[in-house]
Amino acid sequence: MRIYNTLTKTKEEFVPREDKKVKMFICGPTVYDYIHIGNARTFVFFDVVAKYLRHSGYNLEYIQNITDIDNKIIERAQKENVNSLEYAKKYTKIFKEDMKALGVTSPEYKNATDHIPEVVKQVQTLLDKGNAYVIENDGIYFDLSTFPDYGKLSGRTANMADDAVSRIDDSDKKRNRSDFALWKFSQEGDPSWPASFGDGRPGWHIEDTAITEKYFGPQYDLHGAGQDLIFPHHEAEIAQQESASGLKPFVKYWMHTGFLINKEKKMSKSLGNFLSLNEALKSYSPETIRFYFLSAHYRSPLDFSEEILKQSEAAVMRINEFRHKLNLLTSQVKNIDPKETAEILQKVREAMNDDFNTPEAIGTFFELIRQTNQKLENGQMAMTELTKIIDFFDKVLGIIPKSITFPPEIQTLIDQRELARESMDFTIADQLRSQIESLGYQIDDTIYGPLVKKKK
Ligand code: AMP
Repeated sequence: MRIYNTLTKTKEEFVPREDKKVKMFICGPTVYDYIHIGNARTFVFFDVVAKYLRHSGYNLEYIQNITDIDNKIIERAQKENVNSLEYAKKYTKIFKEDMKALGVTSPEYKNATDHIPEVVKQVQTLLDKGNAYVIENDGIYFDLSTFPDYGKLSGRTANMADDAVSRIDDSDKKRNRSDFALWKFSQEGDPSWPASFGDGRPGWHIEDTAITEKYFGPQYDLHGAGQDLIFPHHEAEIAQQESASGLKPFVKYWMHTGFLINKEKKMSKSLGNFLSLNEALKSYSPETIRFYFLSAHYRSPLDFSEEILKQSEAAVMRINEFRHKLNLLTSQVKNIDPKETAEILQKVREAMNDDFNTPEAIGTFFELIRQTNQKLENGQMAMTELTKIIDFFDKVLGIIPKSITFPPEIQTLIDQRELARESMDFTIADQLRSQIESLGYQIDDTIYGPLVKKKK
């Protein structure tokens, strides 16, 4: 399996640090609002990476953090006059429900506020080693002059206008311009935790390395997020962990997803050009949303458009019809040709093994649907092998609709029509067909039985 590594800027053979064991960490959301579908793109992609690694026989530990202490959370909570930790709890719950609804089931979530002792320990280590310093009445900062490797992931060392730089890193007393906060001392109204170097709360970057050091140790295999987090967030993580442990590399493979773009700009909460996942799930099925994300390569930008979402919906509908047809056929398929379908599954795996090329994998699946639709007519396909392929796209990519269901009134009409046909009452059967068609569905009577689909 080959993975594009942001650290080396090349596709590399994936060799975990320990045999088939993989430790993977992905940056999760800051829970001050509903997440948008740009965030969801990143989370769905890494859900597929996790599921594919497990499917390929790796023993994967996958952790995602939840940032439940942050300036934005505190500001929003103050505006609404509620406790900021309670406020974060509310959006953590919503986030987890939305993820579940979208079929993102692979990560184990860890809250920042459940790991304050680990944060304090790491800050203390950095102070003891001379990598951190105190600014009175402000906080503890990382001294970047002690870490010459800063910039090795992104290839740059200075902030740029579009970097997500937190305001908590602002101070005119810093030793170096890009030094970042590890710890902020207590301020009135802010949540605060005890520490021997002064009560306060964690900086932006330290929660991730505190969490991963606890569960994975000082070095691990795979770290990912959206591209916006390469600099300074991931650079800061490298500086913290490699300085604290003295071991390199902190992470072997770094993966970053391209942005979901709306009106030529990165979809983001601060720009206000976003669609929340919660809203999107009211209009589109989870399979449609996942299909939309996965039909583009994860490192490419993806345009937000209702039109592409509609196309994804139509594609998922085609998969649904295909499955429906297969269900009708299960007992009827005669000649078995497992070789051909095994080759298709092999092609799908090759695409996934080449830096998780989901659009190519999906393309191969649709090629199969096209070919099979013809072959099913004369019963030339192997049912068991086909089931394996469908299972793969269900379990790993999550783009197969859960069940073939019609609205109850349509299902009743379909059943009544079948009864009429069985008792040779064709006039009634035809009337029922017209009724079904007038409601936006069409029926094809195949040699295997009636195939019902939504009209295009
Ligand atoms: P945040 O809550 O802003 O820290 O974002 C959570 C995750 O979503 C991070 O991995 C970000 O890199 C990712 N992300 C944020 N905006 C986008 C976007 N427009 N497209 C893709 N990923 C994004």
